[in-house]
Amino acid sequence: MKQERESLEFDIVFVGAGPANLASAIHLQRMIKRHNAQSGIPLEPSIAVIDKGRYPGAHLLSGALLDPRALEEFFPDYREQGCPIEATVSKEKLWFLQSKKKFPIPFVPKKFSNEGALLLSLSRLGAWMAEKADEEGIQLFDSTAATAPFIENGNVAGIFTDDKGRDREGNAKANFEPGLLLKSKVTVIGEGSDGSLFRQLSTLYPSESPGQRYETGVKESWRIAEGKLKAGEVQQFFGYPLSAESYGGGWLYAFSPTLISIGFISSLGPDSPLCNPHLNLQRFKLHPLLAKILIGGTMVESGARTISSGGLDAMPQLYGPGFLVTGESAGMVNMQRHKGIHLAMKSGLLAAETLFEAVLHNDFSNERLGSYTERFKNSWAFEELHASRNYRKAFDNGLYAGLFQAGFQISMPGLSLPKTQQSLPDPFSGLKKRESAFPAIPEFRADGYKTFSKEQSLFRSNLMHDENQPCHLQIKAQDIAEICLKKCLAEFNNPCQHFCPAAVYEITTEPVPALKLNASNCLHCKTCEVADPYGVITWSVPEGGSGPGYNMS
Ligand code: SF4
Repeated sequence: MKQERESLEFDIVFVGAGPANLASAIHLQRMIKRHNAQSGIPLEPSIAVIDKGRYPGAHLLSGALLDPRALEEFFPDYREQGCPIEATVSKEKLWFLQSKKKFPIPFVPKKFSNEGALLLSLSRLGAWMAEKADEEGIQLFDSTAATAPFIENGNVAGIFTDDKGRDREGNAKANFEPGLLLKSKVTVIGEGSDGSLFRQLSTLYPSESPGQRYETGVKESWRIAEGKLKAGEVQQFFGYPLSAESYGGGWLYAFSPTLISIGFISSLGPDSPLCNPHLNLQRFKLHPLLAKILIGGTMVESGARTISSGGLDAMPQLYGPGFLVTGESAGMVNMQRHKGIHLAMKSGLLAAETLFEAVLHNDFSNERLGSYTERFKNSWAFEELHASRNYRKAFDNGLYAGLFQAGFQISMPGLSLPKTQQSLPDPFSGLKKRESAFPAIPEFRADGYKTFSKEQSLFRSNLMHDENQPCHLQIKAQDIAEICLKKCLAEFNNPCQHFCPAAVYEITTEPVPALKLNASNCLHCKTCEVADPYGVITWSVPEGGSGPGYNMS
């Protein structure tokens, strides 16, 4: 018997329970409570937050260093309220690495500095914020994925959520439950980098933006022996193992003398067609400076995620009919500081102020929602993103040119580049072909102790994925035959095998050449969708609750 999709009505639905949307929901609810305490006409909007992770914070991953500026604005007593801060930055170092050598940069430029920043696990911060949202009376649905927008009269009027209990072929299993239709007056998209719902909305409501660009960060948390680092020590690295043509770098943050975050950001641009972000982190850890710290330690958690790195010029329109875009979905990342959580929170606060006005005047028109853009342009978040807008672009001509230009920009912000680039380069326009693009990476064998294979890392990602569900990675059979197994193989040796940090893509040769998809390994990092040179991969959300289960990330 066919089961009907149930429909629930809300005033506001937040898609994604990251720092942007949780800050937004909490701030909005508090403004409403303050209003109701002073006014005879109470406002009672219904608010829901959904997230595809199986618990709050499950899919949140970052270094993470938090500039507390936005948090202080809406949660001045965050420390007293138990915000899970591990340490405050106590010491900073910047290094340039060669394979066996290290060169300390004599001072950390102010624009790079993390003075006053908080070290924390983003997944724990998300869980704490979800708890605070719950205390404010906000309904939070985890294990719930937004699969598509619900469009009515040309407006986004809600979302469809995922069906539960379909088998590999799409048939209903015994435990089948149809997804819901969550109707709303405004949908707030805060899915993080390259969200699936936002992708669909970008096609339905194209904006003038030249499009986003991305990097991939791969991160591990380690327990290390005492006596090597002090709580709050922050070290950032350029150079090894990347060539001078590639953008990227590593980090090491000491949450305590025995718990560290170590990670590496790899560019997925024209100079890194065969980029292997997981391998870059493994090789980075073998540098003597890092190896000395890790020896005797244990890796306790591993994960990966793309980072939106296009900055101000790549930001999409922040609103559309019936929706707002927050946080990294809106590209709120300052690559110069390698920070975005504070900008994500600030965008959430500005969205909340816009939503409050909309609820107050019962006006959810495009004009009303568009005031979010004005709020953003008048905020410190815009100022910060404007000041750093050329930083990442400066590295398009290689590390040394980038360091020179970035240094110049830091000293004289207005004179850094002859003119602001109006559009981003097509990340694949200069994609080198197989013959010229194979980097000379020596044969690498993980030792299972300091370095790990992709499969070994997955054991520490707390992955969960029902194998008997429709494959969430879609590539047309004709594209597999014509592109993957012929054109892409000949030109790039199938970069998906390299750039996916979870070994999801595997080219097999027996009995006949085929592309095998190990979809249950997927970390939801979205690298494949942003790095696929032929655009043949579509990543759609699997059943809610699938994917990694981060806790220390
Ligand atoms: Fe990341 Fe999953 Fe794509 Fe692999 S298949 S690159 S883990 S999103």
